[in-house]
Amino acid sequence: MADGISNNLGAVRDRIARTARLHGRAPESVTLIAVSKAKPATAVAEAHRAGQLDFGENYAQEAAAKIQALAGLPLRWHFIGRVQSNKTALIARHFDWVHTVDRLKIARRLAGHRADGSPLNVLVQVNIDDDPAKGGVAPDAVGALVDAMRGLDGLRLRGLMAVLERAGDAQSSYRRARTLFEGLAGRGGDGWDVLSMGMSGDLEAAIAAGATQVRVGTAIFGPR
Ligand SMILES: *Cc1c(COP(=O)(O)O)cnc(C)c1O
Repeated sequence: MADGISNNLGAVRDRIARTARLHGRAPESVTLIAVSKAKPATAVAEAHRAGQLDFGENYAQEAAAKIQALAGLPLRWHFIGRVQSNKTALIARHFDWVHTVDRLKIARRLAGHRADGSPLNVLVQVNIDDDPAKGGVAPDAVGALVDAMRGLDGLRLRGLMAVLERAGDAQSSYRRARTLFEGLAGRGGDGWDVLSMGMSGDLEAAIAAGATQVRVGTAIFGPR
């Protein structure tokens, strides 16, 4: 099992490097986030021993316990689940990044909890396929949310996170996300440099379209 995680990580890193080079990009231009939801702290520690530093979690309470258990390791934690307003304090306390901001109310609450500390890195989640089953802001409403968030002390606005419709055409959706991301560069401010998209099954399509962070769970830790 331990060997499994290390080998799987190597294979995912190879996929990322090969795809990046194929598209004229440096492999280091893509950050791998290992999604450890539903996996124990021991699995995260094993991935860390294999060189992994960035981890993604979907559930605030489950994550907080793991993050505390692993507090001695220099890990970066990314919240990638739905943000409930009663969990914003917990998330702001434990995480370095939040990928899933889709309402101004949530942005304000997260900002308030970090007003006295280092700013929280945040991405606006865009529902790129307008899928009613998915969270995220509609593509045509992203600009207004970005404008409203830019001045919030306590947050560092870094870019967009895209989730896809399950049955959709990933390549086309990821290209639209990239276009939206680039179109907002002037409004996003100085830190606007991250496009988070791509998972175990489609990271190649995401990197081809310009992803700078990919979120990979199953291909590293096995099925949940
Ligand atoms: C679970 C999850 C992932 C990882 O998905 P895999 O298919 O296991 O790689 C990525 N992004 C989000 C938002 C997730 O919830």
